Amino acid sequence: MGKDVFRCVECNEKATELHRDYSNGILKITICESCQKPVDKYIEYDPVIILIDAILCKSQAFRHILFNSSLNIHWKLCVFFLLCEAYLRWSLLHGSEHSSDPADIIRYTKEWEFYGMFALAALELAAFCGGVLLCLWLVVVRLKGGTVEFRLLLRALLLSCYGKVLLIPTVIWEHDYSPLCLGLIKLFVLTSNSQAIRVILNSSRHISVMAVFVGLLSEGCVSQICKRLPWTIQDMLAFQ
Ligand SMILES: [Zn+2]
Repeated sequence: MGKDVFRCVECNEKATELHRDYSNGILKITICESCQKPVDKYIEYDPVIILIDAILCKSQAFRHILFNSSLNIHWKLCVFFLLCEAYLRWSLLHGSEHSSDPADIIRYTKEWEFYGMFALAALELAAFCGGVLLCLWLVVVRLKGGTVEFRLLLRALLLSCYGKVLLIPTVIWEHDYSPLCLGLIKLFVLTSNSQAIRVILNSSRHISVMAVFVGLLSEGCVSQICKRLPWTIQDMLAFQ
């Protein structure tokens, strides 16, 4: 690793190392020169504790994951969440059609509607990320003259969507409260997104909340445009 590649999880100051490796297998956690606390206390924590702190939206846990870990599964996670979302939308389309015939299930899996839902979910996610990045570019780069690392931001946005994994139990244990559950999951994901932006930019909460709101607006616009298009996916499939 190069120089100053890590960040102190407490004060966001740059650091060259997280621990020092002495001879005889002795490791010592590096102390931050700025706040005099361990640069990254999470390196000796269990992953479950880190996950709990991330769920609680603690900025220290977010800094550990986004700056001090080499977690590069964001694209895989993104595809997985899109598949979950596509399945959820697709299953809602067929919510009223219950069939226990296995042949029917196989037929449904072959339907192009699922791929259409996947494309729609991907388009909405792209609109959300595009809206957030555009808003941050306008506010941080154009108005304030700061710098933004878009690659880091995109990784943070995708990783902070981990709350979408809760879509799986919602799909499995489908019940009357599903719309409420989906709303709560959405709220949790947006809160995580906002916290991730705040940690990456080390900015105030206002900017990150505004960026998420713009992203949500952009996502909503794309969703509405897709629904109002004269050639919706359903119409195309109806003519097959
Ligand atoms: Zn510090």
